[in-house]
Amino acid sequence: MKKLAELYSGKAKTVYTTDDANKLILHFRNDTSAFDGERVEQLDHKGMVNNKFNAFIMQKLEAAGVPTHFEELLSEEEALFKKLDMLPIECVVRNISAGSLCRRLGIEEGLDLDPPTFEFFLKNDALHDPMINDAHILTFRWATQDEIDRMKSLTYMVNDILKALFAEAGMLLVDYKLEFGRYQGELMLGDEFSPDGCRLWDTETRKKLDKDRFRQGLGGVIEAYEEVAQRLGVDLEPLQSTK
Ligand code: ADP
Ligand code: UDP
Repeated sequence: MKKLAELYSGKAKTVYTTDDANKLILHFRNDTSAFDGERVEQLDHKGMVNNKFNAFIMQKLEAAGVPTHFEELLSEEEALFKKLDMLPIECVVRNISAGSLCRRLGIEEGLDLDPPTFEFFLKNDALHDPMINDAHILTFRWATQDEIDRMKSLTYMVNDILKALFAEAGMLLVDYKLEFGRYQGELMLGDEFSPDGCRLWDTETRKKLDKDRFRQGLGGVIEAYEEVAQRLGVDLEPLQSTK
């Protein structure tokens, strides 16, 4: 697969077109950002770990019946994906209270949420990703009612699959963010699933093993990401042949 031109460079990944108009290459960089890009640092190995972690999770989800954009790993920091027409929406499911939910609603961190909550946010850094609801999405034509229903059901389906996967590896899936896009008339899971976009706690100690270590200056960020990957059985060894 030939890399052609840079299409977009975001906060953590760079997107390239390829000689197949339906496929993109995503390069997972070491850049780590927080607070809508206000703080950015380089963390050695982060691109590699997130690339391989994401590939592992996307393959698990696909096998469990969630349509995803993942095609194949290409190199340590790059993989091939279907080119989606991304919806400007973030879907968040929470199993335990943390982050913006606590700040917004004044509730303490660490409460079990039963049933899990679901929230939509508008993907817009300048506006700090404001929370939106179904009516906003319909009024501003960001997605159709069918797409809203599908995003919700797929995001909850991902919750069932991944809560169990992380539980087996001794971790609690606290919350996570997903992005979806359109591909040939079908809605698919896009972007990435990695410790950059979810919260994971050790089940016993509740030690934070995700990007909150970076946001809160706790240190040991990449060590935590590697620990999560190792517990799940993600292979972080150098790839045999790179394309
Ligand atoms: P951000 O744009 O939030 O800074 P990234 O640095 O992760 O985020 O950039 C990756 C960009 O690529 C995001 O805007 C994401 O929506 C987009 N993207 C992810 N997967 C796909 C895909 N399969 N097709 C098209 N765009 C995608
Ligand atoms: N999240 C994300 N990208 C965003 C906003 C949130 O990946 O732009 C993830 C975040 O890592 C967490 C979940 O979505 O796992 C819920 O985030 P929250 O609303 O609590 O916001 P935060 O406290 O991270 O600002």
